[in-house]
Amino acid sequence: MSGALLTTHGLQAFYGDAQALFGIDFTLAAGELVAIIGANGAGKSTFLKSLTGLVRAPREAIRFRGEPIGGLPPGEIVRRGLALVPEGRRLFPSLSVEENLLMGATAGRPGPWNLQRLYGLFPILAEKRRQPGTSLSGGQQQMVALGRALMSNPDVLLCDELSLGLAPVVIREIYAAMPGITAEGMTVVIVEQDVTMARQVSRRVYCFQEGRVSLEGLSADLTRERIAQAYFGIEAAHA
Ligand code: ATP
Repeated sequence: MSGALLTTHGLQAFYGDAQALFGIDFTLAAGELVAIIGANGAGKSTFLKSLTGLVRAPREAIRFRGEPIGGLPPGEIVRRGLALVPEGRRLFPSLSVEENLLMGATAGRPGPWNLQRLYGLFPILAEKRRQPGTSLSGGQQQMVALGRALMSNPDVLLCDELSLGLAPVVIREIYAAMPGITAEGMTVVIVEQDVTMARQVSRRVYCFQEGRVSLEGLSADLTRERIAQAYFGIEAAHA
């Protein structure tokens, strides 16, 4: 696809001898919000980790702005404009909310996101800015993790299971911030187990199954049946 911001071609990934990704072809256009869905162990987190240098990838298998970036060190990938909100939030326990947020700014990329802007997006974080990050509720910690990634002013924000372990009302609150994030043209990839939420917020969906893409299409075009089949596999869908 011409004009693609980020692509992978035949991306494979391994943990030792165990193969986790079996040739992922993926395209992301600037300004898109794309969701990746799939069952536990389908390879969604591994895919995001490969994009951000946390899992080894062949140089040519990942291209960002046309340049091969596979296997570059994670810090270099952040400096080029990809930021990950990791699964499980992973805040620095000894740091305050504000210090956690500032850690995201160390890449030194210019852009619209700064503390003031973030506190506008999530006012509760301004109130709690001097508290230890890990003393906050799960939803508030997720806001800090999201904010920390935004502080690097990425071109592409990669979010791994924002809704993990959160109550539905809190999940809605987190996703309510998405329009404020994409409004300025931020390109976003979300990995999401909540399929309804994934379809609601995204333009396109990829479904992963056992390390492969089992379905890809416009969110509005995909029926529940096609998604169920791609998500669980043919046998399960017919069971
Ligand atoms: P989840 O929703 O559970 O996070 P996922 O779709 O993100 O699932 P991955 O975490 O990417 O899936 O896992 C893909 C495969 O790689 C699984 O078979 C998993 O057991 C394996 N795997 C993941 N992390 C490791 C690791 N650190 N060491 C060995 N195998 C791993």
